[in-house]
Amino acid sequence: MGSLYPMSTVQHIIAGTETAGSGTGLGPIFNPATGEKIGDVTMGGGAEIEAAVAAAKAAQPAWGDTSPAKRARVMFALRALMVEHADEIARTISVEHGKVHDDALGEVQRALEVVDYACGIPELLKGQFSRNVGPGIDSADERQPLGVVSAITPFNFPVMVPVWMISMAIACGNAVILKPSERDPSSANLIHKLFAEAGLPDGILNVVHGGKDAVDTILDHQDIAGISFVGSTAIAEYVYKRGTAGGKRVQALGGAKNHMIVLPDADLDQAADALMGAGFGSAGERCMAVSVAVPVGQDTADALVEKLAPRVAALKIGPATDADAEMGPVITAAAKERIEGLISEGEREGAEVVVDGRGFSLQGYEGGYWVGGTLIDKVTPEMTVYREEIFGPVLSVVRATAYDEALKMVNDHEYGNGTAIFTRDGDAARDFANRVQAGMVGINVPIPVPVAHHSFGGWKRSIFGAHGMYGHEAVHFYTKLKTVTTRWPTGIRSGAQFNFPSLD
Ligand code: NAD
Repeated sequence: MGSLYPMSTVQHIIAGTETAGSGTGLGPIFNPATGEKIGDVTMGGGAEIEAAVAAAKAAQPAWGDTSPAKRARVMFALRALMVEHADEIARTISVEHGKVHDDALGEVQRALEVVDYACGIPELLKGQFSRNVGPGIDSADERQPLGVVSAITPFNFPVMVPVWMISMAIACGNAVILKPSERDPSSANLIHKLFAEAGLPDGILNVVHGGKDAVDTILDHQDIAGISFVGSTAIAEYVYKRGTAGGKRVQALGGAKNHMIVLPDADLDQAADALMGAGFGSAGERCMAVSVAVPVGQDTADALVEKLAPRVAALKIGPATDADAEMGPVITAAAKERIEGLISEGEREGAEVVVDGRGFSLQGYEGGYWVGGTLIDKVTPEMTVYREEIFGPVLSVVRATAYDEALKMVNDHEYGNGTAIFTRDGDAARDFANRVQAGMVGINVPIPVPVAHHSFGGWKRSIFGAHGMYGHEAVHFYTKLKTVTTRWPTGIRSGAQFNFPSLD
């Protein structure tokens, strides 16, 4: 297939052709491990979105009319290509994102699982039929594609999140305009390349790079019927409000602050290991990262912090090319500055920085955007470091005196993406699952990302809109319900009827 690197300028792909568009401007792409500029991305706007919508509109009717079984064949071919090229896809992710290779491979795997699910699209789109809803009258439900939809995606999963959206939207018969993150845009072009090789017709997937200008054109465009967005809460809310004001169907998934409650009866070594992976994997830049540990009881808290501190201090930090590295850099210089600023703010507000990742530097990679693993104890719900999503390798410990206080903390937070409880007590776990205000709940599972035949989505200000990603939710989001009621009047068989038609 050939690597996309070295590449100087990442271009749009419209109707199957790479294009610089109107060349409104370029955005820089950096290698977060070194801080070096490694390329540019063409920043599109109104003209490029218009061209992509025209291509999508022209191609979609035939694709929407293609039998689901034939659309599934493209998904099967895509699956095979993604498996064959998994290593290369992971490397493309890491160069611009910075995550370590195994983590990038994990991202490819979670993308693949949704492609697997999309392979079953004939079964998923199968309608319902009721015979004799009235005399000689039958009713059938079917689900038809929306038409042209858009996917607007974040930097932290440059393959997984776009593939979650695109594979389901396309399998359902839509055409898609993907507007990826401008921080790590190359993965989107690689995804396009794989879809094209898998046999997807030109114009069904279009990639327009850019930022706010491109997004605003999407939000207002009358020929785009649906928008899937994943990103920060402020932008998710903006996308939802502006998109729905224009009559579109919008699902907008936002930020998170995921708590993990540790009850006194939990296996603390297991809990500490779980917190390490969930808090520091991908340098904490995951919407399902655990960023707050809530041990219940002073003894539990003291013992947990004692177990965590040496583990956090010993984190192996390095570039994706280092096979031993457990986590890489953060995405930009601005992100590093913001994360370090929030740690300092927590300290000013009275929290105790037990392991301090500020000022971390790596020999040979001094220009990279590194933040060391950070553990902050005695954080309280009033502190900025608790209220805000940090999106970095920072784990806060908020001490609770009782289970109810811990539960209330989770429920009072503005975000409700994921959450977890570690305990050996089935009754407490069951109560937690029932009463907690979050969309994805783990019982002794720190990152409860649902599998592809369930659906992914948070509650509260972690989501705007009624549908989650993938699973049945995606089928409903990317299709419109149509109910056809049919009566064949008697004629040839029994002669004409002249009474007014009724269902009785
Ligand atoms: P972001 O909100 O900065 O960007 C997301 C997308 O919005 C990008 O494509 C970007 O180009 C676009 N965008 C940015 N500013 C815009 C503006 N002013 N107007 C219109 N469009 C704009 O998010 P990010 O930094 O790329 O990603 C990290 C965030 O995404 C975190 O908050 C994380 O929690 C969240 N996230 C959530 C989930 C989830 O499923 N809930 C999954 C992954 C990431």
